[in-house]
Amino acid sequence: MRNFEYARPETEVEALELLSEHGGNTAVLAGGTDLMNLLKRDVIQPARVVDIKNVSSWKGITHHDGGVLIGANTTLDEINEHALAADYRSLIDVIEGIRAIQITANGTLAGDLCQLPHCWYFRNGYGLLAMKDGESLVATGDNRYHAILGNSGPAKFVSASRFAPSTIAWDAKIRVATLTPSEREGVERVVREEWLPLEYFFQTPKTNSQGVTVLKPGQLITHVWLPAASDTRSATYEVLELCGLDQPQASAACCLGIDGGVVRSAKIVLGHVAPTPWIAYEAAKWLVGQPLTADIAETASRMALAKATPLSHNDYKVQMAETAVRRALLKATNQLGEVL
Ligand SMILES: Cc1cc2nc3c(=O)[nH]c(=O)nc-3n(C[C@H](O)[C@H](O)[C@H](O)COP(=O)(O)OP(=O)(O)OC[C@H]3O[C@@H](n4cnc5c(N)ncnc54)[C@H](O)[C@@H]3O)c2cc1C
Repeated sequence: MRNFEYARPETEVEALELLSEHGGNTAVLAGGTDLMNLLKRDVIQPARVVDIKNVSSWKGITHHDGGVLIGANTTLDEINEHALAADYRSLIDVIEGIRAIQITANGTLAGDLCQLPHCWYFRNGYGLLAMKDGESLVATGDNRYHAILGNSGPAKFVSASRFAPSTIAWDAKIRVATLTPSEREGVERVVREEWLPLEYFFQTPKTNSQGVTVLKPGQLITHVWLPAASDTRSATYEVLELCGLDQPQASAACCLGIDGGVVRSAKIVLGHVAPTPWIAYEAAKWLVGQPLTADIAETASRMALAKATPLSHNDYKVQMAETAVRRALLKATNQLGEVL
């Protein structure tokens, strides 16, 4: 591991100041459960690591603007145990699926959303696009865990976030904070905040210097906001290879509004199938106006994967992703036990 400065700010302004120095070559440390791996393996080389755990205004879960606000320092265990989070069933499904107390005790929701890909080429130093001598190592190599959607460009990794599908399905927003640049010496820099719909947070890089999110150097997520749960039904279904700690091979989350047995609103988001979380617009639109039966869920799952373009070793993932969509829909409507 290389040397780096370690800073532990206590206020938002202090944290943003520390992050914006060194030309923005800094890294946020939340739970540290993934960041420490990246540092140890030399995948990233920040000049300074800014540990945000002591920023008290970024801690906890509160009511906010008709919904619920989760601070960037809130651990997954704290979310799981909090009464305000109980109605967001699809998030709780993810926490229950992690099955590792070390991760749930330390890991955070914002840290998960900002997780870098677990592509083995990327983690072994070949960059996000995994190129060598102008060739894609993914296209010609072992691509069994890579993208089956959105993979026509140079990026073929899958988005690593486990919470992105469920939070995007909830139409979550994130608060992104930045310090305004100093215009003149002696003029105080102020915090600029932007509330960004989470579905616009992720991006597919076209070069190795682009990131997997729209965050710029010196910016970070301070909070995640979820709208009121009201009568929405939600679920996440993850297909995991191992019974213990594991990355899903495919996942799907949905939020459904159901009235008189008929779907009135639907949002379906897949994870671990594309370089960004993948919103299945057509399948969700088709569901509206229908009763959610097992047959309807099956058809919607096929529609969600209809445009899949698997690579040489991962066509098995198409069926897994279809299964994840179908089971998420059935789980949200309490029918999963009947078909398993
Ligand atoms: C042994 C081990 C196994 C793991 N296995 C799995 C697994 O099977 N499945 C899985 O999904 N994950 C796994 N993880 C990854 C990780 O634990 C989770 O993704 C966790 O939720 C990350 O949260 P964190 O708070 O620890 O993030 P950190 O590790 O602190 O940060 C993760 C990334 O996000 C950035 N970041 C953190 N907070 C913010 C913020 N507020 N704003 C902007 N950027 C931020 C960091 O700079 C870093 O790049 C594993 C980790 C370990 C150590």
